[in-house]
Amino acid sequence: MLGECYEFRESSTESGSRLFYFFSSEVPLNSQLQFLIELQQYDLRIFEILDHKKKLPDLVHVAKAPLLEVSKQLEVLQHAGEALTRQRRDGEQELSLQEEHVQKIRGRLNDLKTNKEYQAHLFEIELARKKKEAIEESVLEVLMQVEQNENEQKELQVRMGEVEQAFAKAKDKLESESLSLEQELSTLERQHGELTVQVDRELLVRYTKLKSLRKGFAIAKVKNGACSGCRLQLPPQLVAEVKRADELLNCSYCHRILYWEPTPEAVIDSQTSASEADNVQEIR
Ligand SMILES: [Zn+2]
Repeated sequence: MLGECYEFRESSTESGSRLFYFFSSEVPLNSQLQFLIELQQYDLRIFEILDHKKKLPDLVHVAKAPLLEVSKQLEVLQHAGEALTRQRRDGEQELSLQEEHVQKIRGRLNDLKTNKEYQAHLFEIELARKKKEAIEESVLEVLMQVEQNENEQKELQVRMGEVEQAFAKAKDKLESESLSLEQELSTLERQHGELTVQVDRELLVRYTKLKSLRKGFAIAKVKNGACSGCRLQLPPQLVAEVKRADELLNCSYCHRILYWEPTPEAVIDSQTSASEADNVQEIR
């Protein structure tokens, strides 16, 4: 089980299909397994970073959403404000014309000859005056709307300042995260490359195939007698063989390469047993 892999084959047994690697005396099997475990950690982190990088434009877009929303609201208010200003100007113009009209009517007072003409004149003045009052009311109403619109615009501009600041902060954070991820990615790719050359070539081919088939998870830990990749219970004999690590074995169901990581308790147990065995030897 030591050294360079010189033979690789697959076969089926009672416990499922298996991989066999026979090694010469250079690189221990456990080291090859350890390389693959580390390689998978690099691969998963690289995948995570690349995935996060893909999502960055969306994250920027999400951070920008409140800014776009407030900007849209402000635009609507500004258009409404412009329309109100036009309405106010038209109303003031109409009011001015109506005032002139009232003055003109009043100016005709000296031309009146009969009482009937005078009564008709008074009626005409009254009508013109009422119309002028209605225009004044309407202009006043528009002026109030203009004031309200200006106040709303001021409030929204304050809000705009806040969301602009929040967006700038979020964008800076995302850019700084992106830069740090870029640096991490570059380091990981270098370390990944350095590790790859240490892995047995055929094993690496197998690992790469499994990685693409199993969404980046080619190696799976055996936990509580089950494969942590597909979560299916493994035959006890296979579990025992994985623990012995005399050969590289794969899961009977998902074909991931299996490894066993002793729990701290198991390490203490094995150390205790070893120390007890030493004691027995010393006594003998
Ligand atoms: Zn599995």
